[in-house]
Amino acid sequence: MNAPRTRAGFAAIVGAPNAGKSTLVNALVGSKVSIVSPKVQTTRMRVIGIAMADLDDGTRAQVVLVDTPGIFRTAKRRLERAMVAAAWQGAEDADVVALMVDAERGIGPETEAIVERLKDQRMPRYLVLNKIDLVPRERLLALTADLNARLPFERTFMVSALKQDGIRDVLATLAAALPEGPFLYPEDQAADLPMRLLAAEVTREQVFLQLHQELPYEAAVETEKWEERKDGSVRIEQTIHVQRDGQRAIFLGKGGTRIKQIGARARHELGRMLDRPVHLFLHVKVSERWADDPAHYRAIGLDYEPKSS
Ligand code: GDP
Ligand code: MG
Repeated sequence: MNAPRTRAGFAAIVGAPNAGKSTLVNALVGSKVSIVSPKVQTTRMRVIGIAMADLDDGTRAQVVLVDTPGIFRTAKRRLERAMVAAAWQGAEDADVVALMVDAERGIGPETEAIVERLKDQRMPRYLVLNKIDLVPRERLLALTADLNARLPFERTFMVSALKQDGIRDVLATLAAALPEGPFLYPEDQAADLPMRLLAAEVTREQVFLQLHQELPYEAAVETEKWEERKDGSVRIEQTIHVQRDGQRAIFLGKGGTRIKQIGARARHELGRMLDRPVHLFLHVKVSERWADDPAHYRAIGLDYEPKSS
């Protein structure tokens, strides 16, 4: 028998603050997701959850839900504008976009700005009116008409993320719009993947802070093991991938002092964020081929275009 065909891709969940994005993602994914740090925002897309769906056409889909931090902001200063542009780049890399609107609050300036921007996008765009438990039907219809007049959405959903009403339909539709292809993440990692990525980001930040002058930009951090222990602590193993032996030596430092220092700070930071003891083990590995493989970068949430210094 043939293995079932699969679909996989990125679904960006965009919307004004408090629209209910996190509530939706948590409901779609199940337990532990949406651990996000306001501080660590070095990637354009932030994986906030992974949802699996079995579709009517017989395919099984992996929907990687991403957040695009800062997307709603109306930027005045140059730096702010650059940050918003970077956030939008994240949405543009997604395969599908779902705009969430708080139906009780209606269309504010943030939603307006997002709609304007979505007009230029080519991927399928869906509208999700949320908090229907608070709003009379006439209002929902008026909002649907108003928003679809600004931008004809592929479909409009009316849901209550909080009551988990209507959300399976959203997931099935997003999933069906993804391209056919292999899963981006091993299924058994999906549950704690956002935390794995976050942990990798924390270490990467320490690498950056401690090595930035000598920093091999090609270095990438991958969380290879994430083990919850009975005593409440977590054991994390990470590999720092570098391209050359010389870079490995820089990372290790004399007698391994460099890597110890990076590990100590990252462990401290992770312990603070996760609010429990962390045992962190770092390995530095020369992985030439790894660095050339864009799929790998994409899978761990990094941009694979090398940054120029
Ligand atoms: P985000 O900022 O877009 O991630 O929004 P959150 O998911 O954090 O939700 C913002 C607030 O709206 C929280 O207090 C949620 O409990 C609430 N909320 C989310 N979805 C619903 C819903 O369907 N109905 C109601 N009544 N409240 C909701
Ligand atoms: Mg949120």
